[in-house]
Amino acid sequence: MTQLKFCKTCPICGRKTLIPIQCFGKEITCGHCHSDFRATAPTGNRANESELMDRADSLLATSSGGRLS
Ligand SMILES: [Zn+2]
Repeated sequence: MTQLKFCKTCPICGRKTLIPIQCFGKEITCGHCHSDFRATAPTGNRANESELMDRADSLLATSSGGRLS
């Protein structure tokens, strides 16, 4: 089963971490430095964040209905 992920730059170590899409907006742990941070879009960029949420919703809708063929 494929798990949908998105890429987020860790604010502590600056490296990119793949985060499961269902963890968007939640506290997650960096896979590199093991620091906890919130998996949101960068602050001051709310338009981008809502766009990402729309993408997450459509991705989730696609995956839940993805048993065709
Ligand atoms: Zn980190």
